[in-house]
Amino acid sequence: MRKLIFCLSLFCLSSFCAAQQYDLVIEGGRVLDPETGLDAVRNIGILGGKIARISALPLNGSRVIQAAGLVVAPGFIDLHQHGQDLASQRVKALDGVTTALELEIGVPDVAQFLKAKQGRSLINYGTSASHVAARAAVFGAPLPAGTILPKSGPATDESATPEQIEAIEARLRAELDAGGLAVGMGIQYTPGATRLEVIDMFRLAAQRALPVYTHIRSAGRVEPGSGIEAVSEVIGASAITGAALHIVHINSSCLRDSLECLSMVAGARARGLDVTTEAYPYIAGITPINSALFNPGWQEKLGIGYSDLVLPDTGEHLTRQRFNELHNSSATQWVLVYDNTQEVVDQVIANPLVMIASDGVEGHPRNAGTYSRVLAEYVREKGTLTLMDAIRKMTLMPAEMLQRSTAAARHMGRLQEGCDADIVVFDAATIRDRATFQKPMQPSEGVQFLLVGGTVVVDEGKIAPDVFPGRALLGPGKP
Ligand SMILES: [Zn+2]
Repeated sequence: MRKLIFCLSLFCLSSFCAAQQYDLVIEGGRVLDPETGLDAVRNIGILGGKIARISALPLNGSRVIQAAGLVVAPGFIDLHQHGQDLASQRVKALDGVTTALELEIGVPDVAQFLKAKQGRSLINYGTSASHVAARAAVFGAPLPAGTILPKSGPATDESATPEQIEAIEARLRAELDAGGLAVGMGIQYTPGATRLEVIDMFRLAAQRALPVYTHIRSAGRVEPGSGIEAVSEVIGASAITGAALHIVHINSSCLRDSLECLSMVAGARARGLDVTTEAYPYIAGITPINSALFNPGWQEKLGIGYSDLVLPDTGEHLTRQRFNELHNSSATQWVLVYDNTQEVVDQVIANPLVMIASDGVEGHPRNAGTYSRVLAEYVREKGTLTLMDAIRKMTLMPAEMLQRSTAAARHMGRLQEGCDADIVVFDAATIRDRATFQKPMQPSEGVQFLLVGGTVVVDEGKIAPDVFPGRALLGPGKP
C-alpha cells in the first residue's frame, strides 16, 4: 500500500513536471555530478536560477539548449583568483568557471570590493580578509589602490609589537564583519611575521570558525626556511588553534618536494586535522618583483638564477642589473618565475588530495587556461585523471571547502535538483587551453554554454552581452 502511494505520488510528480514550463532546458547532454556519481544522458530543467528537474524524460523550456554529445557539469569553482576585473572574468567564463574567489591573499577593503562588484560581475565572487593588507595598514604603509601585495620594507620584514598585533587583529575582525570568507595569509610576503603572529591569526580565524588560506612562509630545500618547514608551521598552527587550513598552490610552494608536502597534508588529515590544498597546471609562477619573495637569498632558496625570471609582456630574461632596478622600484612589475618541473606538476595534479585552483592574474596563462588545460592534458591526452575525477577537483572539492565559510556553498559544485544553476556545458573531445606565456589572455576553446544562477553567460562559445548575474559569497560576519 505504502509502495503504491509512493509510486502514485511519483507518477503525479512526473506528470506535473512534464507539464511544467522551465525557464531553460539543457537537453540530452552527458550529465556529471561527482557527489552522487551520476554520469548519464539527462535533461535539466532550470527555474528561478535553480536546477528544478533532472530527468530522462523530455522537459519543456522557454529556451532549449541542445547538449547532445556535450558534457554538462557543475560550473567550476576557483578558490584562488586574483584578477577580479571584467577581462579576467570573461576568460574565466570561457574556461568553465562560474565562481572565482580571492582567498589566498584577500583584498585590502572587503566592503569596497563587494560594493564595486555588485551588479557588475559576470561570475560569482568573494574574498578573504587580508592579513597582508591589515599588517601594511597598521605599519603605516597601506597598500595602494588596486594592489594586494606590498613592496618589501618595514611593513613586510619587521616583527610586530603586541600592540600592532592587536591592531592587525582588530582590522581583520572588521574585514570579516564586512563579509570576508576566511583569513588570507601570504606569509612569504610578510617574512617579519613571527611564528606567534601566525598562530594569533589562526586563533582569530578559529574564534570565527573560519578557515585560513595561506601562501606558506617559504619554498625550496634550504634549511632553515624550506618548503617542508613552512608546511609544518601552518599545519602546527592549525593543530594548535583548531582553524581549518587551506595551503594554496602546493605545486609552486613546495616545488621538488611537492609530493613530500602532500604526504604531510595526508598525514595531518589522517590525524583528524582539517587541512586541504590546491594546485595549478603550469611550471612557472608569477609574482611582483619588488615583493619580499625576492629578499636576499632567493636564488639559493628557490634553486634558480636571474635568467629564470622573465617579464611577461616582453619575454625578457632578467640580468642581475635589470633585477636590481625592478626590485628596488616602487612600481609593481610582475615577473614570471620558472622554478618547477613538468614531472612534479603532473604528479601533483593527479594526486587525489589536490583541488584545481588557478591563482589567476593577468600576465600568466593560468588566468585563462587552467581548467581547460587540466581537461585537455590530464583527462584527454595523458589519461592520468578520469573526467569525473577532474570535475570533482574543480567543483565538489572546492564547494566543500567553501562550506566552511558559507552555507550557500552547499548548493554549489553539484548538479542536483535544488542546487544553484551554475552549469558548464563543454565538448570533452575538443576543450583546450589556448593561453600561452606569450599570449596569456587567449581564451580557452570548447566551453559551449555557461550558466550563472540560470543566466546564460557563455552562449554558443561566446560571451553574452550585458549580463552580470554574478552573486556575492559572504562570510558569516556580514548580517
Ligand atoms: Zn601565492
